[in-house]
Amino acid sequence: MDRRSFLTKASVGGVAAGAVALAAPAIAQESPTVTWRVTSSFPKSLDTIFGAAETMSKYVSESTDGKFQLQIFPAGELVPGLEAADAVSAGTVEACHTASYYYWGKDPTYALGTTVPFGLNYRQMNAWLYHGGGIDLMNEFFHTQNLHYLPCGNTGVQMGGWYRKEINSLADLQGLKMRIGGFAGKIIEKLGVVPQQIAGGDIYPSLEKGTIDAAEWVGPYDDEKLGFYKVAPYYYYPGWWEGGPTLSTMVNLAKWNELPKAYQGVLATACEASNSNMMANYDYKNPTALKSLVANGAQLRPFPQDVLSAAFDAANATYAEISATNAAFKKIHDSQSAFKKDAYLWAQISEYNYDVFMMSQQQAGKL
Ligand code: CA
Repeated sequence: MDRRSFLTKASVGGVAAGAVALAAPAIAQESPTVTWRVTSSFPKSLDTIFGAAETMSKYVSESTDGKFQLQIFPAGELVPGLEAADAVSAGTVEACHTASYYYWGKDPTYALGTTVPFGLNYRQMNAWLYHGGGIDLMNEFFHTQNLHYLPCGNTGVQMGGWYRKEINSLADLQGLKMRIGGFAGKIIEKLGVVPQQIAGGDIYPSLEKGTIDAAEWVGPYDDEKLGFYKVAPYYYYPGWWEGGPTLSTMVNLAKWNELPKAYQGVLATACEASNSNMMANYDYKNPTALKSLVANGAQLRPFPQDVLSAAFDAANATYAEISATNAAFKKIHDSQSAFKKDAYLWAQISEYNYDVFMMSQQQAGKL
C-alpha cells in the first residue's frame, strides 16, 4: 500500500483523519538523519560474517527511508580487527561488528556474549538471549564497559580444525602446536596443547612449513577458501570450543542512549534479523563445501571421547576458578548453565530423535 492510499483509507473516519494530521509532524521531527561508522572485526573475504553487518545496515536503511545509515568498514580500515570494541568504548567510532570473546583478556565476562567451550548451541543461545533475559544480563555487564550489546550473527557449531597427524587419544595432544583463537586457548592449554595466536592469512604457510601442527578456523565454507586440506588433511569435529558463537553489534553507550527510541527499535530488530540470516547462510553453504572438501582429500575424524571428556572437565574447572573471583562472570555463566541443563533435556526428546532418524535415512541413501 502506498502512502497516499494509506492516508485516504485512514481518513475515512473523522477521528482517524484527526490522528493522522496530528501525528505526521511528530514523526517527521523524530526521524533525524543519523550516519554511523561501524568497524568490523572481519575482512571482506569472510563474506558470510562480514556480510551480516552489511545485511544489518541494509535493513536499517530500508526501514528508515535511508535516514539512519550505518557505514560498514572492514577490519583494519579504521581500526584493527581485534581492537574494534575498544574503539567503540572510547567513542572513536559509534559501533562495531565483532565477537565479544576477542576481548576476554580485559575480563572473561566478555566471552559469554559470544561463546565459551561447551557453551550453548545456536538455538539455545538465541533462546537464552531473547527469552531468558540474556540480552539484559549481558548489557548489565557491557554497560560498565561503555558498550551496548546487540546479538548479530552466528556461525553455528564450528569444526575442530585441521591436523597434520591423526589424534587418536589425549596423549597425541601433548605439545601439539595449534592455532586456536582467544579464550579456548586457555582451556585447551590444560590438555597439553600449546595455543598459538596467528592471523587468518598466516595460518596456511605456518601449517605448510610445520611451524604449527594444527589450526582451527571456522567451518567448511570458510575453511575451504583457505585451502588447509592440502597441508593438514585430518579435519576433526565437533569444534567444542565454539558450539554456537554469537557475533554482536556493539554500540557506544552514549551514542545508543542519544538514538531516538524508534531507531533503537529498528537497529535491534535489524540485528535480530541479521542474526538468523547469517546462520541460514552458513546452513545453506556448509553442506556443499563439506562435500567438496572431502572430494579433495579432507579426512573427516571425530575427536576421541577421552579428548572431549578431558576438555569438558578442564572447561568446568576453569569456569569455577573464574566464578570464585568474578561476580559478573558467575552471574551470567550460572544463568547460561541453568538453561543449558534444561535445554538438553528437551533437545534429547525433540530434535535429537527426529534428526537421528532422518540421518539414518540420509546414510541409507533414502533422502
Ligand atoms: Ca573458530
